[in-house]
Amino acid sequence: MNRDLEAKLKACSTLPSPPKVASELIQLAHDPEAAIQDVAKILQMDPALSIKILRVANSPLYANRRNVETLAQATLIIGLNGILALALSFSLVKSFRGEKMNGLNYPLYWQRALIGASISRAIGEASSLVSLEELFTATLMQDIGMLALDRVLPKLYRDPKFNQTCHQQVIMHEQEHIGTTHAAIGGWLLANWNLPERLQLAVSASDEPERVPVTDDRSHFIRCVALSGMIAELYLTHAKGQQVVEVSEKGKDWLGFTPEAFTEILTKLKGLVSHSEDMFDCKIQNDLSAETLLETAKEALLIRNMQAFRQVETLKHNTVILESRYQNLEESSRLDALTGVYNRSYLDEVIETTFESASMNATPLSFLFVDLDHFKKVNDTYGHQHGDNILRAVAKILKAQTRNTDIVGRYGGEEFFIVMPGVNGEMAEMVCHRVNTAFRLHTYDVGPNQSITVTVSLGIATLENGHMFESSHEMIGAADQALYASKSQGRDRWTAYKTLPAAYHRKSHSLN
Ligand code: GH3
Ligand code: MG
Ligand code: MG
Repeated sequence: MNRDLEAKLKACSTLPSPPKVASELIQLAHDPEAAIQDVAKILQMDPALSIKILRVANSPLYANRRNVETLAQATLIIGLNGILALALSFSLVKSFRGEKMNGLNYPLYWQRALIGASISRAIGEASSLVSLEELFTATLMQDIGMLALDRVLPKLYRDPKFNQTCHQQVIMHEQEHIGTTHAAIGGWLLANWNLPERLQLAVSASDEPERVPVTDDRSHFIRCVALSGMIAELYLTHAKGQQVVEVSEKGKDWLGFTPEAFTEILTKLKGLVSHSEDMFDCKIQNDLSAETLLETAKEALLIRNMQAFRQVETLKHNTVILESRYQNLEESSRLDALTGVYNRSYLDEVIETTFESASMNATPLSFLFVDLDHFKKVNDTYGHQHGDNILRAVAKILKAQTRNTDIVGRYGGEEFFIVMPGVNGEMAEMVCHRVNTAFRLHTYDVGPNQSITVTVSLGIATLENGHMFESSHEMIGAADQALYASKSQGRDRWTAYKTLPAAYHRKSHSLN
């Protein structure tokens, strides 16, 4: 705050100041030894104030069965600090009431203060704050700096552009004209009155509670004060959707309120405000009922929930698309570009895993090598293009002649490989028989009115009882040797490794 302003504030004789009773209560508030009797003694100086305190103690806010008749009983119920806070509020409001204002709309000022203070109770309860009376006092006084500023700078709020209903605009107006805000002035004022430090801080940080870090144990209290003021403004400005949602978001960020908890707080607004009206003998509710705000809030929060729901749905949908794209990508990385059956690297993986699983579980497994007969000649005679078309057709035939659980892949060149989990030797021979037949019957167009057939040779290796292999590598070698036997015995046929005479069991050879 600038010195000039501070000097003005200090020199101002008409500055709001606590009445005698309040001053004495303030002193007592600093005394750790203060007792109920001391409070009662001070309150008795002001009978109207005592009656108010008794009314509060007997109100539905404090669920007691017995009638509270003495200040000592009231203090037991409300607590010493609570009584002090309430007495302070009452006496301050009383002393400021009816003062002549310069540019400030006085009724509007008190409406905001009292509505905020009223709702603060519901906020404090919902966030398990213990000192609800102190919260009431802090909320009631959070804008007290505006009263002071209006006194010392009569022209400040007289500006026709000044809009008192929107608190954010009030702050901007003050910043622009005096380089500080009423919150800072209020804090200064409370410090001058020697009020408890927590109250000072709650007032000076009321418009910017995030300034006080959550690690500070006063931050919870201060956030309750700030949220109360914001809800009061919603009520006074007949707020609509987005504004309500923004305040509800603050409730979530500052105090962890769900939208449901937030609307639950608003349901208490009407009752709490009428209670404050009774206590302060004034009318503060405006034409718009508290129910209207509640309905608006419910609607706005419902819409927001739906938006959030939709966002989640969109997110889920995108994830599904991404996942399927990824799967497609993964699938396509496993496929051979020319023929569309699995490629060699995926075949290698499948060969390894199926071999391990069949060995471990002692289930049958068959490998088939399929090699086109004299394919070089086909290429040489009809061209590579036709050769490619034939390779594509071959892949289709192989898929058609095998089950879905069999894995058909291109091993390399014009050589295919089929992994058949759960298939024993006998079944594998049947498949080979079918494949040979299918190829004999299939014709490929290789020119106008010209078609050819292509035969295949096959080699079978089967892992089953009595025919074990040490490794998948050894089993592949066995299928390869069986294929070699088919080739050397005239092609267009199949051979099972297990039927080969021992002489055929060579360590390695090349088919090409
Ligand atoms: P065999 O009966 O002994 O298997 O005789 P083959 O001619 O089929 O065997 P060889 O290994 O001598 O020749 C294989 C031929 O397959 C060589 C090449 O022209 C052809 N080939 C390999 N890959 C492709 C391909 O991707 N497209 C085409 N069009 N031809 C291919
Ligand atoms: Mg060949
Ligand atoms: Mg070959």
